[in-house]
Amino acid sequence: MSTASIQLNRQQRIDLHSHTTCSDGKFTATELVDRAVNFQLDVLAITDHDSIDALASAKSYIQANQLPLKIINGVEISTRWHGFEIHIVGLNFDPNNSALNALLEQQAQAREERAINMAVKLEKCGFVGIYDDAKQLAKDGTITRSHFAQALYNRGEISKLQSAFDKYIGKNKRAFVKSAWCDLQTAIETIHQAGGSAVMAHPIRYDMSGKWRRKLIIEFKSLGGDALEIVLPQMNPDQRRLMLSYCQEYELKASLGSDFHYPTPWSDLGKNLTLPEDCIEVWSNWDNIHP
Ligand code: AMP
Ligand code: MN
Ligand code: MN
Ligand code: MN
Repeated sequence: MSTASIQLNRQQRIDLHSHTTCSDGKFTATELVDRAVNFQLDVLAITDHDSIDALASAKSYIQANQLPLKIINGVEISTRWHGFEIHIVGLNFDPNNSALNALLEQQAQAREERAINMAVKLEKCGFVGIYDDAKQLAKDGTITRSHFAQALYNRGEISKLQSAFDKYIGKNKRAFVKSAWCDLQTAIETIHQAGGSAVMAHPIRYDMSGKWRRKLIIEFKSLGGDALEIVLPQMNPDQRRLMLSYCQEYELKASLGSDFHYPTPWSDLGKNLTLPEDCIEVWSNWDNIHP
């Protein structure tokens, strides 16, 4: 098979970070595909939190309707690193890999336990029955803190979703619970075992000093990490330069993504995503796209 036709290139419209209702996105897999096609994207990675459940339905919908969109298998794995929660995006892996599926099963259990413990703490804050509300919002998808935030918002307890994190479920707040996420090494190695690329999601967004961020990137690189997600919506020129310099200094490839959950006035699926000239694309060593 010729590889030329399956290679990604910079002329295409590419978004390698997005969510569906299989985690905390607002659109189902097919709705997300429709949006991507309407926006004339060429390539979309669906990267739900610790779940790959959306991939099959997105791909079969595209096939059934002969839509002009290529789906890259993706996932956003939550990890723990020195008390920080670091997200590792896996791209272009074999979704049937048993090590990957075992890890996602373990992460799902950790999520469920955290949700139960978080609900106990939220009940102590006066929000009786909040677990059932969050679970109902998550439906069959992975339960996330976004669902608890939405549940509190729906009850009128907070005026914006961010307040749930600021007051209750953000790091070290009243109802915060540490999760038993896997470590960085496990996430990176498991993605590699499944034939994928390991990308550090949104390095710019972690609430840590520059010194800690460098320490994190150095460790990510030494563990075999492949790329940094250096292009996301709402970055200023200084941040863009800094992220690019990390790629160059630590010889990491570069990825880009909207981290789309739902449209906002300042971001949308596939909008304003362009890699800078002087970086190596995360897809540069992909010689096939995993079905
Ligand atoms: P979880 O993976 O369950 O810890 O949930 C994390 C998700 O909650 C993230 O992917 C975001 O979508 C959302 N989130 C995390 N922190 C915040 C925050 N400070 N404000 C708003 N949403 C947040
Ligand atoms: Mn999310
Ligand atoms: Mn993330
Ligand atoms: Mn994300």
